[in-house]
Amino acid sequence: MQVRILKGTNQIGGVFTEIISKEAKIIIDFGDDLDGVKRLENIEGLTIGTPSYDGVIITHNHQDHMGRIDDILDDIPVYMSDLSRRIFEMVFCFSKNKGKIKRKTINIEDRKTFTIKDMKITPFIVDHSAYNSFMLLIEANGKRILHTGDFRNHGYKGILLEKTLKEIGKIDLLITEGTTFSREQIKSKSETELVDDIVDKTKNYDEVLMLMSTTNIDRVTTMQKVANRTGKKVIHDIVLSNILQLVTQRIPNALNSKDVGVFLPTNYYIKKDKEEYKQYIEQFQERINETGKMLYGKFIMNIRVSMLKDIERLKTKNNVLNNCCVVYSMWEGYKQEKMYRKFLDKMKELKIDVFNLHVSGHADCTAFNELINITKPEAVIPIHTENKEKIKSFTNKAVILNDMETYEF
Ligand SMILES: [Zn+2]
Ligand SMILES: [Zn+2]
Repeated sequence: MQVRILKGTNQIGGVFTEIISKEAKIIIDFGDDLDGVKRLENIEGLTIGTPSYDGVIITHNHQDHMGRIDDILDDIPVYMSDLSRRIFEMVFCFSKNKGKIKRKTINIEDRKTFTIKDMKITPFIVDHSAYNSFMLLIEANGKRILHTGDFRNHGYKGILLEKTLKEIGKIDLLITEGTTFSREQIKSKSETELVDDIVDKTKNYDEVLMLMSTTNIDRVTTMQKVANRTGKKVIHDIVLSNILQLVTQRIPNALNSKDVGVFLPTNYYIKKDKEEYKQYIEQFQERINETGKMLYGKFIMNIRVSMLKDIERLKTKNNVLNNCCVVYSMWEGYKQEKMYRKFLDKMKELKIDVFNLHVSGHADCTAFNELINITKPEAVIPIHTENKEKIKSFTNKAVILNDMETYEF
């Protein structure tokens, strides 16, 4: 077996992993770099020339893992969860970026093994900030490789990591993400502890705006728990309202609970007359109308930086948000981006308090120890990291690669 990290031994996101067995040659994940710069580097046999890969597998629907799937040559099968694909398309349907994924994909599901030539591949659902994320077990030529994708053990599904790893059992090679290797923190706070923190900071405010990723369903649950404990109604923006219809009925949403409103931001509203958007808005129209009143009571609402104009309008024209705070509940790194800087500056101007309350979607030390102690790998390759040497503090089986270097075993 051969493993080559085409890109991603020295960066977080935009990681492409190549695995070659006697008969098959595959790639795991094909996304954009996290800095938002579109780099369209071509890979012979994958994006140009004669197809030489037998498949590409996408672990989850974050842009840095799947953003480039339309660049893959048509004849190469791409495997990804249908649900993950629909969530991704839903988000982009409401944004300025291109919407639909053009190419066909083959559905993958939790614990449903599929084969690519002599490779047996089994996805295992795992806790991460994207709903429906997978680790991949690849078995071929008598060897077992585990590719973690992005994962953690401190979300609401975190408790399942141990059970999943025990089910996977001993492996020969571990390819693991190492996002937190460049951070000092030892143990991450859990989503449950985050609820306590948000309750503590926001209980005396009437209006709480959660700046967060719309696809982070754990955080949506967290928002609901905060609302329950602080006596607030919940308002979801139109994108989140639609995503919840796809993923779960277990979290109260605008169609199954009278206490949940739907906010239609102005910049999405403009597109309302476009035929493709009607289906996403019509089913919520009644709730959208009723939500106007909810804005004058106590509420917690998910927001995005693109809603800046709406927040300004609510505060200055509609005379709401008079006792308001924003909870910045995302990766700190986004604050470098222009849109975020502009948003945060405006909050200052509007005299809206901002609190930074977030827990990472990525594995902490306890998760790495669990991973390595249970799967007992013979070799460990760190990827998706800016500090790959740190893996040596968890294992003496580290294999430190640079981009394009091959590990053979
Ligand atoms: Zn990632
Ligand atoms: Zn991710």
